[in-house]
Amino acid sequence: MKILAFESSCDETAVAVVEDGRRVLSDAIASQADLHALYGGVVPELASRKHVEVIAALTEKALADAGCTRQDIDAVAVTYAPGLIGAVLVGLSFAKSVAYGLGVPLIPVHHVRGHIAANYLAFPELEPPFLALAISGGNTMIVDVRDYTDLEILGATRDDAAGECFDKAARVLGLPYPGGAPMDKLAQQSRGGVYTLPHSHVEGAPLDMSFSGLKTAVVNLAHHAEQVGEPLDAPALARDFAQAVSDTLVPRVMEAAKQSGRTVIVAAGGVAANSVIRADLERACEKAGCRLYLPPLRWCGDNGAMIGAQGYYEYLAGHTAGMDLNAYATRDISE
Ligand code: ATP
Ligand code: MG
Ligand code: FE
Repeated sequence: MKILAFESSCDETAVAVVEDGRRVLSDAIASQADLHALYGGVVPELASRKHVEVIAALTEKALADAGCTRQDIDAVAVTYAPGLIGAVLVGLSFAKSVAYGLGVPLIPVHHVRGHIAANYLAFPELEPPFLALAISGGNTMIVDVRDYTDLEILGATRDDAAGECFDKAARVLGLPYPGGAPMDKLAQQSRGGVYTLPHSHVEGAPLDMSFSGLKTAVVNLAHHAEQVGEPLDAPALARDFAQAVSDTLVPRVMEAAKQSGRTVIVAAGGVAANSVIRADLERACEKAGCRLYLPPLRWCGDNGAMIGAQGYYEYLAGHTAGMDLNAYATRDISE
């Protein structure tokens, strides 16, 4: 079954053709990162407009790269939530028109379910149940993936997402948007151990997380250094910051594994590209005897193929939608 998949929830327009949820026939992406870098972050209205500009041509490219014609497409999958509402609406409206025009089913896909499903593309043997650590620009959660379309949140951030925190910290260190990857590179120049950063706990909810205090601590350190004219050891701060994020995430996912009895752990989302978090997860999983799946970097960030992967399993579960399907800025992954 060939699915044409659309993703437009943030600043990447992406269209892919995926066969049977596992085989990527094409994966076309147009990133707007350079545009938003001018403003230090995503400008929602500009994102929507850019999606409109490129989505039709990108669809042609995805079909051509896959060696497909429209008639080869069996269904259309699309991110319908969560994300920037205007941005999501562009992909959703376009996907609807394609599905309607071709007379094929329309499959709504939750963006974070898509991030998790990116692992199905990289690891043919991977099947639920497993535990997923989904860490991205707008979401940070530990998810029990009981089955392909049966997911439960075991713990989540109460405020900022891990990626958002990376991006804000990067900004005060003068790094370009999106700051996660440049922060990672900078951190690799230092062994850290210079800055003491806060590690938050949510009272009564040991698997939940908070990143806003960490973000504020980095902002305050940078401003203080500037005010007193003291040089900041930026590589050490980047390293200590990544360690603080990792120390928040990794013990919690291991605790969740212990509590749930799951022995397979999967990382997902843009922040899953982080080298400190990947190394710490590897160490912790080896120690606990858990099997770890770390997606290759190309499947960590937003892409269309991950939507096609999850879309296949949503289709098998009978989750298709009519032309009245709406877009949502927020939506629980378990719905
Ligand atoms: P969401 O998926 O929650 O809707 P999003 O789609 O914007 O948000 P992704 O595309 O999955 O998020 O990931 C982007 C985020 O990943 C950004 O915050 C970016 O800075 C971060 N990121 C990318 N590479 C790294 C890295 N090596 N280390 C840390 N963070 C990273
Ligand atoms: Mg992006
Ligand atoms: Fe994403």
